[in-house]
Amino acid sequence: MSVPFIDLKSQYLALKNSIDSRIQKVLESGAYIGGPEVAELEKTLAQHTGVKHCLAVGSGTDALLMPLMALGIGRGDEVITTAFSFIATAETIVLAGATPVFVDIDRQTFNIDPKKIEAAITPRTKAIMPVSLYGQAADLEEINAIAKKHNLFVIEDTAQSYGAIYKDKKSGACTTAAGTSFYPAKPLGCYGEGGAIFTNDDQLHIAMKEIREHGSEKRYYHTRLGLNARLDTIQCAILLSKMERYDWEVEQRDRLAKRYTDAFKGLESLDAQFSTPHVKAENKSVWAQYTVTVTNRDLFQKKMSELQVPTAVHYPMTMPDQPWYKKNTPATHDISISRWAADHVVSLPMFPDMDQKTQDIVIDAVKKSVEFSAKQA
Ligand SMILES: *Cc1c(COP(=O)(O)O)cnc(C)c1O
Repeated sequence: MSVPFIDLKSQYLALKNSIDSRIQKVLESGAYIGGPEVAELEKTLAQHTGVKHCLAVGSGTDALLMPLMALGIGRGDEVITTAFSFIATAETIVLAGATPVFVDIDRQTFNIDPKKIEAAITPRTKAIMPVSLYGQAADLEEINAIAKKHNLFVIEDTAQSYGAIYKDKKSGACTTAAGTSFYPAKPLGCYGEGGAIFTNDDQLHIAMKEIREHGSEKRYYHTRLGLNARLDTIQCAILLSKMERYDWEVEQRDRLAKRYTDAFKGLESLDAQFSTPHVKAENKSVWAQYTVTVTNRDLFQKKMSELQVPTAVHYPMTMPDQPWYKKNTPATHDISISRWAADHVVSLPMFPDMDQKTQDIVIDAVKKSVEFSAKQA
């Protein structure tokens, strides 16, 4: 039996009645952009995250670009971010016209190392964009303290951490603004492209709302440069259904993650670089990925695939080492831990409807593959 990496179909089947009837209602309403579901979703997500404003937008990429645009960050400005993330993080900084300045990560959490941020601040720095990778919030309190001292904005990339808890707050509720993604494979996914922005700042909310509509404060009157960045009504309807059991899903993911970690105890004795995810005591992860490290990833993945268990690498290269970035915005600070991570991380199947039997197949395959790859190394 082969195991899926993510099983979105069983999740749909569990919510089929609700999703089908909500989509049907939109189809029959005739309002496909800006229907009542948009405002309902924004209210639901703002409450769930504990922030004043939520804006539903076209993608996670829009959700990161728009706060930069609204804050007036652009040419000549620098934005500090992690070296280790999906490329959209750095891409949005460049699209805004600014320069990304890459800082190394913490080896245990894979999130930006706050101790290394201050060395990267220059008179041109305008913002810090931490990423809450794999489902766990970055060290937002430390980052906010640095930002306050140097008068910088903080935009949290919460594409992988919607619903995660940081201290007594939610990821997305701690910074100037936060952008998340509803790409289908994210913890909270829709059935197309989608994203949302969170902020407690009224002015910033209004500016981003205008940017979402081509920079217009009223119809056909454009006071700023904008985008077409609306989230369509059907996606909002789907997300409203998904929210009906999202907290349960997060619990399931957490239960599965703990079961993986228990089962993998002792594997370091076979492979010195084997590690399971480290979630800080102040955090509750939503497990966008369950990511381990191994010494010889190629051999590990080869054996896993022979055993019919899929794996994925998030991400095989640091952002500044990607060809375009290497040429245009290369790393200017030490990013050796990010490079180490890019060579050794590997993610395992993780989805809320995974049953015990399926997880046992993965666990067994991981044990065999660690043993196999460590011996050959
Ligand atoms: C997925 C992702 C994005 C981009 O989201 P899209 O909806 O695909 O545009 C940005 N940052 C991170 C960390 C992501 O994982």
